[in-house]
Amino acid sequence: MITTGCRIAIASGKGGTGKTMVAVNLMYSIKDIIDGKIQLIDCDVEEPNINIFTKGRFNSEKEVAIKIPEINTDKCIYCGKCAEYCSYNAIIFVKSIPHIAVMDDLCHGCGACSYACETKDAITEKNHVLGTVSKYNISDKIEIIEGRIKVGNALAVPVIKAVKKEANENALVIYDSPPGTSCPVIETINDVDYVVLVTEPTPFGVNDLKLMVETVKKLGKKMGVVVNRIGLGTDDLYDYLNAENIEVLMKIPFDKKIAGIYSEGKILVDEFPWLKQEFLDLFKKIHI
Ligand code: SF4
Ligand code: SF4
Repeated sequence: MITTGCRIAIASGKGGTGKTMVAVNLMYSIKDIIDGKIQLIDCDVEEPNINIFTKGRFNSEKEVAIKIPEINTDKCIYCGKCAEYCSYNAIIFVKSIPHIAVMDDLCHGCGACSYACETKDAITEKNHVLGTVSKYNISDKIEIIEGRIKVGNALAVPVIKAVKKEANENALVIYDSPPGTSCPVIETINDVDYVVLVTEPTPFGVNDLKLMVETVKKLGKKMGVVVNRIGLGTDDLYDYLNAENIEVLMKIPFDKKIAGIYSEGKILVDEFPWLKQEFLDLFKKIHI
C-alpha cells in the first residue's frame, strides 16, 4: 500500500488526453485513505490548470529567476568573443556598426559569455524572471503547488526544477507533467517512483503513447496506463499494451455527462461515486 514519501507522475504523450483530470481526481479519491500530507504539483508550467478545479486558498507566490549577462557598452571593446561562446545564439553582435545586445529570452544563464570576456566590467549580471511558483491550500493536509512560466519565456525546465523543489519528502506527491516527451517531461518524471500514462484509444493516442512508453522505459521507471474515452477508436491500443506487458490501471468511458461536469470545472469523483471507486482501485494497482 502506498502511503507517504512516494512520487507519482501523471503524464501523456500529447495534450488533451485527460492528464490533469486524472491527477486531480486521483488526489480527491485517495485523500481520506492517506495518513499525512498530499501535494499535487502542477509541472505543466506553460498551461497550469489544476487550481481551476481544486480552487485552493492562495498561500504564497515567489519568482523563479536566473542570472543573465548585461553588457556595459561603455566598457565593451566589441571583440565578439562572448557571442562566439554563446551556444544559444542569445547575443547579437555586429562588428561593423558596432552593435552588441543580449536577447534576454533566449539566454540560458550558462555564464559562458562572462567566462569568455576578458574586458573588465564589460559584462555584469542581472536577474531575469522566468516565472513563478505559487502555493494554495485545500486543507491542512492537502497542498497545491503551481509552476507558471512568464509569457514569452521559452525556458520551462528551470521553472519545473523550482516547483519540484517544493516537494516534501514526507508527503505523497502527485506531479501533473507537461504533455509530450521533451525536456520538460524528462525533468518532471526523472525522480518519480511511478508514471501513470494517460491516453485514448485513437491512432494519435496510440502513436504518442508509444513515444512516451519508450521515454519512460529509458528512464527505468515503473508505469501503467489509464485509457480515457473508451469506446473511441480501435483495439490497436490494447494489442500494443498486451505486447508490451503494460498494465491497464483504469478505463474511463467516453460519456457526455462526464465531459459536461468536467467542462464546468467540477471534481468528477464528487459527482460520480463509482468513478471514485475506480480511482481507488487504480491507486491499489500502483506497486511502488
Ligand atoms: S549566459 Fe550563456 S546563454 Fe546567456 S548570453 Fe551568455 S553565453 Fe549565451
Ligand atoms: S567579450 Fe566582452 S568586450 Fe568582447 S564583445 Fe563581448 S562583452 Fe564586449
